[in-house]
Amino acid sequence: MTQSFSASPAPDITPLPLSQPMPHAGVLAIDPYVPGKSSAPGAAKIHKLSSNETPFGPSPAAQQAFIDSAKKLSLYPDGTATALRSAIAAHHGLDPARIVCGAGSDELLSLLATIYLAPGDEGIFTEHGFLVYKIAILAAGGTPVVVPEKNLTTDIDAILAAVTLRTKIVFIANPNNPTGTYLPFSEVKRLATSLPSHVLLVLDAAYGEYVTRNDYSAGLELAATHENVIMTRTFSKIYGLAALRLGWCYAPAAVADALNRVRGPFNTSGPAIAAGIAAIKDQTHVDRAIAHNEAWLGKLTEALTQIGFTVTPSVANFLLVHFLDAATAQEADAFLTGRGLILRSVASYGLPHCLRLSIGLDEANQLVIDSLREFANKGANPRD
Ligand SMILES: *Cc1c(COP(=O)(O)O)cnc(C)c1O
Repeated sequence: MTQSFSASPAPDITPLPLSQPMPHAGVLAIDPYVPGKSSAPGAAKIHKLSSNETPFGPSPAAQQAFIDSAKKLSLYPDGTATALRSAIAAHHGLDPARIVCGAGSDELLSLLATIYLAPGDEGIFTEHGFLVYKIAILAAGGTPVVVPEKNLTTDIDAILAAVTLRTKIVFIANPNNPTGTYLPFSEVKRLATSLPSHVLLVLDAAYGEYVTRNDYSAGLELAATHENVIMTRTFSKIYGLAALRLGWCYAPAAVADALNRVRGPFNTSGPAIAAGIAAIKDQTHVDRAIAHNEAWLGKLTEALTQIGFTVTPSVANFLLVHFLDAATAQEADAFLTGRGLILRSVASYGLPHCLRLSIGLDEANQLVIDSLREFANKGANPRD
């Protein structure tokens, strides 16, 4: 005899005769995420500036922890990642019970969409927002609602104007990828306090460690004090552990509870947990990356502006460089690739006339300046 464990009785419908397994409509509406390029055929030396990875690599202590973890590969990891959550909690002054870890913050973003969106519910993100939000919303069977930005920056009033009775979740990256722009804490707070209390606000602070502005906050205090605000973080960017897939979030207790029900029981691996603990304890390594980034954000912005390019002011570890049009951006992309510089096309973000450039080591950054100067000089007018 079959037993049904569904939460409600199965609706009495006659199934359509399908000839093959069919994903639901939302899945078929997804444009698969295309990661940044990683090769430059023919170039003598490659500088990968396409995925916002840190040029410094992980902390040596994190590498050692990863190597040591090889001795324990036959054992399941601690499914509750208790030691990692304690290390994160100690570093940020948080309640470990409200931290949930994931296989990258991407996993947490997808889980949140799955948990809070039923078919027909709406999820909001912004015009040039991170594409994973749209994928997560569609995969959950939700309806993506895209709101305009102002000056390539998240517009709180546009978000609030888009909220309907069906809205269940709002995703914003602060700072945003691929624009590099950010919202001051006052604006994020205004959004948190103006949203209806049943709408979950997801603050994605993947680049939060890089921001040095004193009017910025990643959102920990909002997640600590609002029942409908959650902040996500990652070990993929400044901590240099992208390959290990490790992220975490600080959530209201009820949201953490829901995540813990739905996530895989062993969603973060043993090596990732071990490396993450060592990484978060090495603040010297992080400080060095922040200082390098801060210096080069300024230098690159100034040098490229002087050559004649428009560069969107960024507080993250990457810059959005504008070209005359999409064709010129593509030409520049090919020109730079020929010199071993791999940048990120952002046409899929509605910015076909731009390229995104991650801050690299001195040599790569200087090569970017020299190459773009050469490109501008050989062409007509690089300005947009
Ligand atoms: C890189 C990035 C992430 C991090 O993704 P992981 O899955 O943790 O590697 C999240 N959000 C944004 C906006 C990003 O650019």
